Amino acid sequence: MQLTGALFNVRDHCLAAFKSSADCKQVYCEVLRQSLIKGVMNHETALSKAKEIAERVLAPAARQNDKEGRFSTEAVDALGRAGLLGLMLPAEFGGAGLGSRTFAGVTATLAEADASVAMVYLMHICAAAMITTARPGAAVAQILKEIGTGGHLSTLAFSEAGSRSHFWAPVSRARPNGAGVRITAKKSWVTSAGRAHSYVVSTLAPEGTGPTDSTLYLVPVGLRGLSVEGSWDGLGLRANASAPMMLDDCEVPFGLQLTDDGRGFQAMLDVVLPQFNLGTAAVALGLCRAAVAATAAHLKSARFEHLGQSLGESLPTLRAQLAAMQIDTDGLSVRVDDLVEHLERPRDMTLLRVLETKAAAGDIAISVTSTAMRVCGGAAFSKRMNIERLFRDAHAGAVMAPTGDVLREFIARAVLGMPLF
Ligand SMILES: Cc1cc2nc3c(=O)[nH]c(=O)nc-3n(C[C@H](O)[C@H](O)[C@H](O)COP(=O)(O)OP(=O)(O)OC[C@H]3O[C@@H](n4cnc5c(N)ncnc54)[C@H](O)[C@@H]3O)c2cc1C
Repeated sequence: MQLTGALFNVRDHCLAAFKSSADCKQVYCEVLRQSLIKGVMNHETALSKAKEIAERVLAPAARQNDKEGRFSTEAVDALGRAGLLGLMLPAEFGGAGLGSRTFAGVTATLAEADASVAMVYLMHICAAAMITTARPGAAVAQILKEIGTGGHLSTLAFSEAGSRSHFWAPVSRARPNGAGVRITAKKSWVTSAGRAHSYVVSTLAPEGTGPTDSTLYLVPVGLRGLSVEGSWDGLGLRANASAPMMLDDCEVPFGLQLTDDGRGFQAMLDVVLPQFNLGTAAVALGLCRAAVAATAAHLKSARFEHLGQSLGESLPTLRAQLAAMQIDTDGLSVRVDDLVEHLERPRDMTLLRVLETKAAAGDIAISVTSTAMRVCGGAAFSKRMNIERLFRDAHAGAVMAPTGDVLREFIARAVLGMPLF
């Protein structure tokens, strides 16, 4: 049940790979220059930068971006300029070298203002972690530098039309091609599709024999055969461009192979899953906090004039429901903190906590925002407030893989001592 040592080795490993690369010197000078310009970031300054961006860039545009299904390039630019795209990259790459605690705090803060942007951010951080742990010799130093200096957005392209939410079992397969591989794959949802500068793509290894014998590749934008298939018009997270993508006989050079053949699945479990589940829980937490704040504001401002009281003063039932929302939100916050502690100091129960936290967060976000809809009545229903957007956005976490159902299945298997796969 323990996460492997890869969680501990991420930085040492990528630093070694980076130092052995040919363009090391030039990259090193540039990232040092950028670090001096940006100044050193710590947990507190990262959170205050996120808050400032959330208030200045995200909040004013969230309603309209949601309505139009418009991806916020302004938000990504602001996150890049603030150094937040390189949050977990080591300083040698121009990153802030911060950990899961700050990642969760930044993501929750962004989600309070706009969960679509927070999801874009979380996918990027997971992809960046994967690129950072690329196998020795991978030609990713330039891209890491671009991430570290805030000019590169990445994302995950795991889910396939053929295996749906079972992202651990891609049905596409890489075919060797002299200098690399050719990949043909139908990726069913890709957050930041057509907006990211690169995609971390899963596919079966050329000689893989089992359904999880996958390999991960980095596919930069502009590679021939890579295209976005249609637009994104979801119920929630409407501003995060989660469209399907197609890789049509895409030629990917060996230098962009991130894992050894057949090691993609393990990398997904070791590197991506913990941060993805933590980040999704942080998005849920931000949504719950926003729902509590919006509900409280409504209960204070909306009035029964004939009674001379606000809704909150007048109706104990509304106060009780607000209290339940607050209790659930604080409970989720404790869960997020608990998972952070587990990721900082992995131990026997860590994998279980990774699974539980996302499963619980999905349910809590749906429950808290549903209560907010009920408490705020017709005002929420008729879209006069942000609550219906929070309610719609809150439904994404539970259906994003690993889905809540799949997590519950894994948790029960773990409790029963059965193999997860
Ligand atoms: C907004 C959004 C953004 C996304 N972004 C990305 C992205 O950036 N990258 C990416 O790779 N994917 C992304 N996805 C895809 C996501 O991770 C899932 O793969 C997708 O939502 C699954 O939908 P489906 O219809 O294929 O589910 P299905 O697999 O068809 O599942 C249908 C139902 O069956 C349940 N189910 C499935 N298997 C089991 C099981 N073993 N036990 C119990 N119940 C089960 C599911 O929980 C679900 O309720 C995104 C999805 C959304 C909605």
